[in-house]
Amino acid sequence: MSQRIAVVGSGIAGLAAAWWLSQRHEVTLYEAERRFGGHTHTHAVTLGDRLYAVDSGFIVFNPLHYPLLSALFDELGVATRPTTMSFSVHSERSGVEYNATSLNRLFCQRRNLVSPRFLGMVADLVRFYRQAPALLDTSGPGPTLGAYLAEGRYGEAFRDEHLIPMASALWSSPPRAVLDFPARHLVAFLANHQMLDLGARAPWRVVDGGSARYVEALRRRWRVRERIACPVESVTREHDGVTLRSRADTARYDQVVLACHADQALAVLDDADDTERAVLGALRYQDNDAVLHTDARLLRGGARPGPPGTRTCRAIRMHHARSATA
Ligand SMILES: Cc1cc2nc3c(=O)[nH]c(=O)nc-3n(C[C@H](O)[C@H](O)[C@H](O)COP(=O)(O)OP(=O)(O)OC[C@H]3O[C@@H](n4cnc5c(N)ncnc54)[C@H](O)[C@@H]3O)c2cc1C
Repeated sequence: MSQRIAVVGSGIAGLAAAWWLSQRHEVTLYEAERRFGGHTHTHAVTLGDRLYAVDSGFIVFNPLHYPLLSALFDELGVATRPTTMSFSVHSERSGVEYNATSLNRLFCQRRNLVSPRFLGMVADLVRFYRQAPALLDTSGPGPTLGAYLAEGRYGEAFRDEHLIPMASALWSSPPRAVLDFPARHLVAFLANHQMLDLGARAPWRVVDGGSARYVEALRRRWRVRERIACPVESVTREHDGVTLRSRADTARYDQVVLACHADQALAVLDDADDTERAVLGALRYQDNDAVLHTDARLLRGGARPGPPGTRTCRAIRMHHARSATA
């Protein structure tokens, strides 16, 4: 029997829920912002006479670890293409610079071939990727990353010039904060993204023309009632359905899907019980500032993007770029 269903939030979680549910049910999708997509956010940037589609949130995926997303793209006929993902570090403090994709690039500063500190970092790196997967066989939260590195006597160079920059880049987190994260979470993340095997990396892909293309493809094809720039203010569960109050109106539904972040879900739940408050309230978030720019000096390190009018093409504060910190 067809039901009336409200979906709150239009990131990939809400879009996918609305897409599949709408094939059998009557779905209304609420989005607080003025655009659909959430972390799927493509910016159109013109440089000279070329237009670039720059993704600032969701960028890459691979078919092996994203089977459902890949199936959705196939179903929608969304074109994707291969891309590369690599990791480079430039340390302003030590002057060390390397890229982790080949031996030649690892030793792009040839002096590092005879640097005990750098060679120690490489040895630690090989040891970490060999030993750390054992954490996946343990139960419970286990040691924090900082404690795990100290216990394993990993060197400062490996910690400060490899693991911290990598973990903080992966999770959009302040560098020192990642040392307080459970080490097992990092290792699980690396395992899920095939990043523990130094030789074989996952074949990453991007959506041709920017990730927003799949949002457009969904919206062209679906039968979903869209409520854009329409934040949901409260959700009250009753024995025979749900009352949802939004900026626009109050409506009744049979079901509601909260496809927003844990703190946002808790904020709208009128009648959250103790378990919901404990689980959803346990996650803390931070806003991250991001600058989209064309200042090539930053690639060499040391410089900050200049004020508007210099070569910084656009500065955006991405309110949506939030990351969980605990
Ligand atoms: C900088 C960055 C880069 C990333 N790169 C990748 C990548 O390359 N590959 C990858 O797999 N993942 C990547 N991620 C992670 C990925 O983008 C997210 O995990 C995913 O997009 C989250 O989707 P979501 O639907 O859960 O949430 P979101 O996309 O955040 O969507 C939640 C939506 O809910 C809306 N909302 C909240 N409250 C309300 C309300 N009360 N009423 C109505 N609407 C509401 C919000 O406005 C938002 O649009 C990246 C994340 C960031 C921040």
